[in-house]
Amino acid sequence: MSRYDYDLFTWGGGWGGVRASRVSASYGARVAVAEERDLGGTCVNVGCIPKKLMVYASHYSEDFEDAAAYGWTVGPRSFDWATLIANKDREIERLNGIYRTILTQNGVEIIEGRAVVVDPHTVEIGGRRITAEHILVATGGWPRMPEGGGAELAISSNEIFHLESLPERILVVGGGYIAVEFAGILHGMGSKVTQVYRGPLFLRGFDDDARTTLAEEMRKKEIDLRFDTNLASIEEASGGLVATLDDGSRLEVDQVLCAIGRVPLTRDLGLEAAGVRLGKKGEIEVNEFGASSVPSIHAIGDVTDRVSLTPVAIHEAVCLAATLFDGRPSSPDHQDIASAVFSQPNIGSVGVTEAQARAEYGEIDVYRSKFRALKHTLTGSSEQTMMKLLVDRASDRVVGVHMVGPDAGEIIQGIAIAVKCHATKAQFDATIGIHPTAAEEFVTMREPVAAAD
Ligand code: FAD
Ligand code: NDP
Repeated sequence: MSRYDYDLFTWGGGWGGVRASRVSASYGARVAVAEERDLGGTCVNVGCIPKKLMVYASHYSEDFEDAAAYGWTVGPRSFDWATLIANKDREIERLNGIYRTILTQNGVEIIEGRAVVVDPHTVEIGGRRITAEHILVATGGWPRMPEGGGAELAISSNEIFHLESLPERILVVGGGYIAVEFAGILHGMGSKVTQVYRGPLFLRGFDDDARTTLAEEMRKKEIDLRFDTNLASIEEASGGLVATLDDGSRLEVDQVLCAIGRVPLTRDLGLEAAGVRLGKKGEIEVNEFGASSVPSIHAIGDVTDRVSLTPVAIHEAVCLAATLFDGRPSSPDHQDIASAVFSQPNIGSVGVTEAQARAEYGEIDVYRSKFRALKHTLTGSSEQTMMKLLVDRASDRVVGVHMVGPDAGEIIQGIAIAVKCHATKAQFDATIGIHPTAAEEFVTMREPVAAAD
């Protein structure tokens, strides 16, 4: 008989925590999971899922326009925010239920409330002390908000999913995934969108061709992109808000959405007192097997601030469960993680950027293609699709693939398998394309457009 109440106490019922709990239970561990809000965490409640539903909703405005070129007469159209939000909420509630079932059917006890750590093997939740051989912190992150200057009048991504009405005019602050995605979503639904980013070009860290192509496409849609500009202050005004930017310009808007990054949720959890070492942003520092500086306390997902994506949290969860309860020490593999920005059009990306490839491999070949997709030969839209392959000349390996265009996220998922398998350019060339698709371009680009010295 173990001297602990549980083998594993998981803190946080997001994707990371749920997966680690379920898989650990399947290995025979006695598991409890504590959740203070809704099961499914950020991704399900205020992240990936509702966001993607909103991307679908928003894209209809262009689809209706395009339909005319294909002979369709689309009647008078209007968008009802309340209908979308109600339908979205119903789906999220269904998903919350599914997470509950997944856990209970696997024998995991769900404890509702906020947990704090008491010592390396004890947590307290709702006045109850619980002991566990292993404690897993999977508490995720929370939107960072600016301070002062009326910042309390702004909303974060948490609130955007629950607004009572679609803002007619909105200022989006930030140049990362969330800001870019919501600029597109809200524009498609009919809002007048201004997006400000403090640097010269948004989406720092993505390939430069992808960043410039997306900026061009967003500007064509008349999204007002202002780079090298930041929010200075917000004031209430009759009928809305006035946002002052650091170049002195003033904007009358209905909402200001700040999407300037997220911070790991580790404050006031008793972690430091228990000896858990935190990094500069408050992230839990872990070793390659997910253990913190206290050997019985582990962490996965956004709270570790490594790669903050749902599939990464899930991968780290599966590795941790195998390490702790299946006798297979497993270290998460963070190489070549594909990702998509669900902007309009999408960015899909895997491997290194051109700048990274030049620094890392020296001599590289760059293959790039920019074209108008077949669909738009009839619609008259000038939207460009951009595809790019980066090849290490010494090994012929494809080390980076980037795309801007419809369904880039879907397309890059398949390409990511090839990159993960270290496919060479010769193997891409030997692959017969599927015609007519945009994706076939990835196996038909023959002439490099630029080469390193
Ligand atoms: P979370 O999902 O944040 O779960 C943590 C859980 O812990 C939460 O439910 C929280 O309530 C709970 N918790 C916190 N503190 C306590 C406590 N003291 N006691 C009890 N419970 C606690 N990723 C993608 O891969 N694709 C996307 O398209 C995508 N879109 C996104 C869009 C938005 C707007 C946002 C904000 C994020 C998006 N992400 C996306 C990122 C993704 O949501 C996260 O990487 C993922 O949710 C991380 O999972 P997690 O389990 O680490 O943390
Ligand atoms: P990001 O880290 O992606 O971007 C933050 C942005 O805010 C950057 O442009 C950054 O600029 C800017 N910024 C940071 N601090 C300030 C400041 N003080 N003033 C003004 N601007 C500032 O964060 P997000 O909030 O967009 O998203 C959080 C994470 O969630 C993402 O990194 C990603 O991991 C995940 N996510 C994934 C999605 C997907 O997979 N499709 C979608 C949404 C979120 P700079 O670059 O100059 O530092």
